[in-house]
Amino acid sequence: MNDTHIPVPLARLEQRDAFVGRHVGPDADATGAMLHALGLASLDRLVEKVIPGAILSPAPLALPAGRTEPEALARLREIAGANRVFKSFIGMGYYDCHTPTVILRNVLENPAWYTAYTPYQPEISQGRLEALLNFQTMVSDLTGMEIANASLLDEATAAGEAMTFCQRLAKNSAKAFFVSRDCHPQTIEVVRTRAEPLGIEVVVGDHATDLAALDYFGVLLQYPGSGGEIHDYAGVVAAAHEKKALVVVAADLLSLTLLTPPGEFGADVAIGTTQRFGVPFGYGGPHAAYFATRDAHKRVMPGRVVGQSIDSHGNKAYRLAMQTREQHIRREKATSNICTAQVLLGIMASMYACYHGPHGLTTIAGRVHRLTATLAEGLRALGVTVLTQHFFDTLTVAVDDAGAIHSAARRREINLREVDAHTVGISCDETTTRGDVETLWTIFAAGAAVPDFDAIEQKFPQALPAALQRTSAFLTHPVFNKHHSETQMLRYLRGLADKDLALDRTMIPLGSCTMKLNATTEMIPITWREFGGMHPFAPADQAQGYRQLTNELEQMLCACTGYDAVSLQPNAGSQGEYAGLLAIRAYHASRGEAHRDVCLIPSSAHGTNPATSQMAGMRVVVVACDDKGNVDVADLQAKAEQHGDKLAALMITYPSTHGVFETAIREISDIIHRHGGQVYIDGANMNAMVGLCQPGQFGGDVSHLNLHKTFCIPHGGGGPGIGPIGVRSHLAPFLPGHRVAGLEGIGAVAAAPWGSASILPITWTYITLMGRDGLRHGSIMAILNANYIAQRLAPYYPVLYRGENGMVAHECILDLRPLKDSTGVTVDDVAKRLIDYGFHAPTMSFPVAGTLMIEPTESESKEEIDRFCDAMIAIRAEIEKVGNGQFDPQDNPLANAPHTAAALAGEWPHPYSREQAVFPLASLREGKYWPPVGRVDNVYGDRNLVCTCPPMSDYEQN
Ligand SMILES: *Cc1c(COP(=O)(O)O)cnc(C)c1O
Repeated sequence: MNDTHIPVPLARLEQRDAFVGRHVGPDADATGAMLHALGLASLDRLVEKVIPGAILSPAPLALPAGRTEPEALARLREIAGANRVFKSFIGMGYYDCHTPTVILRNVLENPAWYTAYTPYQPEISQGRLEALLNFQTMVSDLTGMEIANASLLDEATAAGEAMTFCQRLAKNSAKAFFVSRDCHPQTIEVVRTRAEPLGIEVVVGDHATDLAALDYFGVLLQYPGSGGEIHDYAGVVAAAHEKKALVVVAADLLSLTLLTPPGEFGADVAIGTTQRFGVPFGYGGPHAAYFATRDAHKRVMPGRVVGQSIDSHGNKAYRLAMQTREQHIRREKATSNICTAQVLLGIMASMYACYHGPHGLTTIAGRVHRLTATLAEGLRALGVTVLTQHFFDTLTVAVDDAGAIHSAARRREINLREVDAHTVGISCDETTTRGDVETLWTIFAAGAAVPDFDAIEQKFPQALPAALQRTSAFLTHPVFNKHHSETQMLRYLRGLADKDLALDRTMIPLGSCTMKLNATTEMIPITWREFGGMHPFAPADQAQGYRQLTNELEQMLCACTGYDAVSLQPNAGSQGEYAGLLAIRAYHASRGEAHRDVCLIPSSAHGTNPATSQMAGMRVVVVACDDKGNVDVADLQAKAEQHGDKLAALMITYPSTHGVFETAIREISDIIHRHGGQVYIDGANMNAMVGLCQPGQFGGDVSHLNLHKTFCIPHGGGGPGIGPIGVRSHLAPFLPGHRVAGLEGIGAVAAAPWGSASILPITWTYITLMGRDGLRHGSIMAILNANYIAQRLAPYYPVLYRGENGMVAHECILDLRPLKDSTGVTVDDVAKRLIDYGFHAPTMSFPVAGTLMIEPTESESKEEIDRFCDAMIAIRAEIEKVGNGQFDPQDNPLANAPHTAAALAGEWPHPYSREQAVFPLASLREGKYWPPVGRVDNVYGDRNLVCTCPPMSDYEQN
């Protein structure tokens, strides 16, 4: 066809190019059909019925129209181009590395890994659970500790977690936590932030001289020290144990291939980052931190832990161990508020260890050390004073004029660590070359002749302390010793990914978690070197692109929320909550009302809310909900009055955790404000609100958003996430600061000034592509999809809560309790049976036990939603058969779900057919998902906690 004959205007042709049509599942026809099913004339009618008029935004979002994908990427290229990526020798806990390309492409850039959800459903998560068990084993082995968790957010927050862990376990009543001054400065800053609301006194000093006279419950040491020195901590450990205190060692994993690990010199906890195991700088994150301890303390360890258990056939299977739902069960008594962690980055690090193996890692470490020792020798030959005596990869050197050295370095596009006017730090890493060492000599030589590299290197210089050389073996498990060829690695990664269900195979209808499209265009920029290659403490003038990006994104998020200022620093929702409550706390204190410490929290709240309040030094008072799932306003009023001038805040989720827009939200906010409290609106459910209503305009003083839910950052199997907070102007002075980076504000809540900066382009791109109208349309379609599901499924499963007009918000809760009472079939049975139908289960038993919470998001098409509803309806018919005796009450497709392929082979002992078991719908014959294990036994796993790779003997039996 000839172009000139297309009889439509250009504007219409270009509209077809809009991204929104690719982000939103249903097209115009499907939208019409769904509206028809709901008896609604238009989308506007839907909005009127769902969103209370009192909060509906009068004006469109203050954002430009959507851009096309090529336009957005071109603009982002310009922004990225304003970053100047220098070679970094800064260190301070961040080291450049080579991401093995097989891991880059097949994990970081692979939707099978990055679109997966947190592995709460173990049967469809065996691949990532195995990868996380490898991570735990890697950390345990390298640190010499008995048990490790499956990642924390960053090294500094891990240190904060370790501090409260020590306080809980120490058998003394001291109030002080000692922190070595040779810890990384950002770690010290975050520890101070965390300590203050809890009344913990942080004493920073020299571990060799300042400890004897102090009473303390815990000690934090850096190994090797931040300045590079490798201290022998055996004496400190003995003295601390004498005082019944605990010792935390923040250790560099790569150095532990050469050095005696903390577990062998008596440390009680080891923490740190795994960044240099193949994860780019990313201007600060995301990276996986680790936390390891002794077996005796495993039940109070923060974060998630993968454990081994057995499935219904008695075969080995992995699962998240009991800590999984910690906050939801223990609420304000939880040991930590950590929920989303850094799974994807943890998996990358574990695969780096699998790929290189113990010998490869030792070789990398040995090379880094040799180059550093050669560098030191050469500097000495040049007359430079090297202050570090025993070191691994970092030197502190004395100079006359540090400024002159930094200028000379920057002319060669090199950054060194700025210590003070007469001291400079230099850290080598996996990417350092002999050429780099020679360049560094040139910088310090100031015109003098540079030493001969070969002459120095051939003397085999080394500077590890003789008494602290590692003698124990590590990573001896086969998994770390058989994937060294790229072919093997590729197949291992593919094999693990194939065991799992992620968004690249099926909808993941998880209420409260917003598993929507993570568009490829949004993901492309995160691996650009201009974003990935920058050290978090690179000088500000090199990070102009990042500044542009964060400024624009803050503006965008202000526009979406109606707040006046945003902090991008918190690196998960839990951390946003924490930063938000700290802002409220500091605001009260600034007005002479530091005594306000009561935090009201509705009983339906997400478990992180009460856990966070406790960390922020607040007392939790629970507010009741009525039988419609709304906050009981009378009870709220009574509690606000009762606590009067003690009232600090209300934490409320909106739309509610019960999936409805409460009409009383303005009244609720007014009550709190009248009593001098601040309103924290948990904005993790923002997906139903963007472009429709703004928490900053209907009563909120502060909210966190989960960029890994509403704003398209993929879940990564349980992280990364970003939990920025928006605040009204009166709270803006109390946003997190960052002293190391020169940012104003109250203390830092994360190690890096802009948290997980390198994934911010995902959200920037999403908002740029969708634009003002696209974002609003997306929210409306999320609401439409949820109401369509509620409508289709209500005849089969009662919908527990609805708003005033009989509508739900962006999710709906199905009540399975009556069915359980009449048939014995549980939510678990339904969740596991959905696997046989090829689906990931909805959210189970949250916020109400015995229910399923479904959130389809706007990205799912009507076909996919219908496929899901068909499965749920077919399951309902199966439940009926259990109820009326057509199925055996114990031996039926629900009780035995999920069915593995292996279970079909051989004898078939069940009263129902194989066909019924695995192909209950004919459509399943095309593209069947086969779970690798049968139902996993949770109780067995908790009783027999095994959290590292099983020993060789286990394999020999098989
Ligand atoms: C997901 C969620 C959180 C916690 O966010 P994380 O990023 O997992 O820490 C808090 N509140 C609500 C309502 C949520 O849905």
